[in-house]
Amino acid sequence: MGIVDEFDHVAPRLRGKKEGTFAYFTVRDRWPKIVTSLVDQLTRKRDALIEKHGEDASADIADILEKFSRLRYEIMTDKPLINFPESGPDGKMWHDWMEELKTAVMPNDVEELTYFKGPWLFVECYLYRFIYSAFLATKKLADMDYFEDSKRKNFLDHLDQVEEGVAFLMKITAKDSPAHEMFGIHQIMKSSLWGNRADMSLTGGDDHTMKMSSIAASVQLKDYILIDDVNWLMVKVLAPLQANPQKLKNRRIDIVLDNAGVELCADLMMAEFFLARGFADKVVLHGKAIPWFVSDTTENDFNWTVDSLHLAGQQSAKLGEQIKKRVEKMEIIYKAGLFWISPHPYCDMQEKAPELYEELTTSSLVIFKGDLNYRKLVGDRDWDLNTSFKKAVRGFDPCPILALRTLKAETIAGLTDEVLNILLEKFDEDNSWMTSGEYAVCQLGGVPPIEE
Ligand SMILES: [Mg+2]
Repeated sequence: MGIVDEFDHVAPRLRGKKEGTFAYFTVRDRWPKIVTSLVDQLTRKRDALIEKHGEDASADIADILEKFSRLRYEIMTDKPLINFPESGPDGKMWHDWMEELKTAVMPNDVEELTYFKGPWLFVECYLYRFIYSAFLATKKLADMDYFEDSKRKNFLDHLDQVEEGVAFLMKITAKDSPAHEMFGIHQIMKSSLWGNRADMSLTGGDDHTMKMSSIAASVQLKDYILIDDVNWLMVKVLAPLQANPQKLKNRRIDIVLDNAGVELCADLMMAEFFLARGFADKVVLHGKAIPWFVSDTTENDFNWTVDSLHLAGQQSAKLGEQIKKRVEKMEIIYKAGLFWISPHPYCDMQEKAPELYEELTTSSLVIFKGDLNYRKLVGDRDWDLNTSFKKAVRGFDPCPILALRTLKAETIAGLTDEVLNILLEKFDEDNSWMTSGEYAVCQLGGVPPIEE
């Protein structure tokens, strides 16, 4: 299905214009703050960048600062989105998508394509692509990852937690491990889930240190998981994979990554767990082709993190070496397709990125990490909270899918009446639980109905 929606059958898109919502707060406060922090960073690093790249960098920085000053003003005064240069592999596509949105969706579903009135998901992706285009247009700074410092700091701030998690992984993947397989799966998947709490786009790149390790969190925070389908995942997907290694030729699990730093470490642990315990012969990691949503993983982040794991301790050093070997043997593959930096919901993947969709149909399981992936799964829409996940993903089921997400946006589907009553009792009308990052889901889709 394209972006022309059957308006009477689907929930409305989230937009920034509704005061009091998290989308409104994001456009009004979070986006200007992210732009301001980039301006501060460039100002701070100006001399160092000129020393490294020569005098051309001075004009580059002036050019970017001018664009960012205008960008901040245009966000804050709700101006229409403007086209950026058709540069980069997806520049032309962005022009087309903006035209398509204006002609196919407006004025019925969207009154105007401005920062507050446009679809939140589309405009937020546009913002990060606009920021990239400002760097891309320069002579010397086109390759700069302007979010790199905060991503690396997040890793370096969590060395003890990483080592604790990896030590646990090594114990449960050892040949004579006494741990029950089910226990290991829960711990590893919940560890990857709680690693998602440390998202720097929420704080505009400010420090966001997790106080407990993601392994400790996986034991202590079970009451904060609103939907937990991990047992079903084991029954429907993982156990059959492990039981039939000879018959199943392409035992492949995909992980669509979210953030670098401590979360990426937990995801690498999960990949190693699947391979070491015989749930998969190959794990494909999907990252971002350009700096994205402040803390999202790029190829540089992936390589740097694997190279830097030894800083966390002896066990982590072993994991780093193991992952390098697996990358060489193509048991772990890192990819960064352009679709992941597009503004499209995943129900449009088959139409917008047919090759990627086809590729995912050959996978045994795709794990979607984090809030942005979840927003794209459910189309970033204001669903009734008890709408089924199957309905909210609107036909997207290339293979079994699992969302591991801590809640940071006001969209969710598939909550049971029992959970809704608990939330109502605790929060009444206050829906801060949807955006605080405290609550989470491990939600399974793309398999035959599991209850009913
Ligand atoms: Mg992210």
